[in-house]
Amino acid sequence: TATSRLDKLLANMGYASRREIQMLARNGRIFLDGAPIASAEQRIAITPDLRERLVVDGEPLDPLPGLVVMVNKPLGMTCSHKEAGALIYDLLPTRWRRRDPAISTVGRLDKETSGLILLTDDGALLHRIISPKNHVAKHYLATLDRPLEGSEAELFASGTLMLEGEAKPLLPAELEVLSPHQARLAITEGRYHQVRRMFAATGNHVTALHRESLGGLTLPPGLQAGEFQLLTTDDIAAIW
Ligand code: URA
Repeated sequence: TATSRLDKLLANMGYASRREIQMLARNGRIFLDGAPIASAEQRIAITPDLRERLVVDGEPLDPLPGLVVMVNKPLGMTCSHKEAGALIYDLLPTRWRRRDPAISTVGRLDKETSGLILLTDDGALLHRIISPKNHVAKHYLATLDRPLEGSEAELFASGTLMLEGEAKPLLPAELEVLSPHQARLAITEGRYHQVRRMFAATGNHVTALHRESLGGLTLPPGLQAGEFQLLTTDDIAAIW
């Protein structure tokens, strides 16, 4: 089990500076197993049950490092830390946005794409999910301006489709036609504006795009746009 000095752990979780946390401890405002701790300089084992055992200013502890959050992204929000306008990070509690390592999106969705996106402070997990080598399929529901022609599925599955300005063809992708103007597309890569550009390559135009799932993880029907939920280790294992 990893251990950390308590002041460092809480500072990295965005609570306050290490000095301020030492003051909180001295003032009897940090409780461990029901008793105020004498000093925040002690080392502590970072185990999942710490969330129930450690109370700061009367509140149970925030999610420990290694958190993974599923967000149902609304339209109009950007997956960026620094752009102007509404950011996906605005949906998280403010303290979570001061964490080190920072919480980042696992890949990106366009500003005008909605649906499932993960956020995590676990860089290794992030890379494992987005690496095309790991073939995590992403399912998108696309609404199209023009009726589908019928030849798109074969083209997308061929592994020969070249996007403009790129040197390598796209890996095979699976298209399921739902109606003349709607289809579900499964891709394992994450190239820039990939789904929109794939349909553009067939002379069509995507008018709405929504990500329904990532590997074995699907947006739960109760998770409204703009809401988030912490994933359990079982949820994370379901990705593969
Ligand atoms: N493909 C796109 O074109 N946009 C997204 O947001 C995701 C995949």
